[in-house]
Amino acid sequence: MSAPKKPLVIGNWKMNLDFVEAVHLGQQIGVLLKNRPAEHTDVVVAPPFVDLRSVTSIVASERIAVTVAAQHVNPNENGAHTGEISVAMLQRLGVEWVLVGHSERRALYAMDDAIVAATLRAVVRSGLKVVLCVGEALDVREEGDQDEWVRRQLRAALEGLDERFGELVTVAYEPIWAIGTGLTATSAQVYEMMTHVRSVLAGLKLVDARVLYGGSVNAENAASLVAEGHVDGFLVGGASLKAESFLAIIGACDDCYALKR
Ligand code: PEP
Repeated sequence: MSAPKKPLVIGNWKMNLDFVEAVHLGQQIGVLLKNRPAEHTDVVVAPPFVDLRSVTSIVASERIAVTVAAQHVNPNENGAHTGEISVAMLQRLGVEWVLVGHSERRALYAMDDAIVAATLRAVVRSGLKVVLCVGEALDVREEGDQDEWVRRQLRAALEGLDERFGELVTVAYEPIWAIGTGLTATSAQVYEMMTHVRSVLAGLKLVDARVLYGGSVNAENAASLVAEGHVDGFLVGGASLKAESFLAIIGACDDCYALKR
């Protein structure tokens, strides 16, 4: 087996927390990280657009060991796209990562494979890191078609991507049936999908990409998922809104990586 990759834990705050609440949570995370530094784990938070400026400022001024992601971006450079935000605007705010193709964007905001691919390219061409989200709905899993579904999503987004952008790509496998439902994929299901995703990525010459799991990860299940599921980290929704549970997940990744090295 190849050497373990440095874990990555990303908190997706979704449409929660105004800028005052976001600063407060950022500061709480900062305090907990100072008490128990994440020595082996990269930590990222993804606040709503309107909080980004406040969160990047507090992270810089209080030297908090996290970097900041946007939850979405428009692939166009500028122009008549009312309500949208460009990659350059994010860059100016000190944002380093963008989530692309989250299942909520795909399902609720008509983000199809072509838009996912265009958005991913716009992000990496600007030098920002991308977290490509993939995952199947419950009916797909019940039919046993999850591998094919995820392969198709990965290829649609990544096929033909210039190899020099490979180091900017992370993949998050998030089965839709596990997002925000309290249902978590079993460690065995996660392990199978991690193996599958890594083999598809190898076919796309993206062997260095980290592969995360997302879907009702919490302080209780993180340790077994990271150890037995062989994930390179987590994309965390609900449990990232409380500093203590977010830090417990980071701690689980940190401990597992320290043991495996
Ligand atoms: C997510 O939205 O990416 C997610 C994984 O949410 P939750 O952890 O709440 O299931």
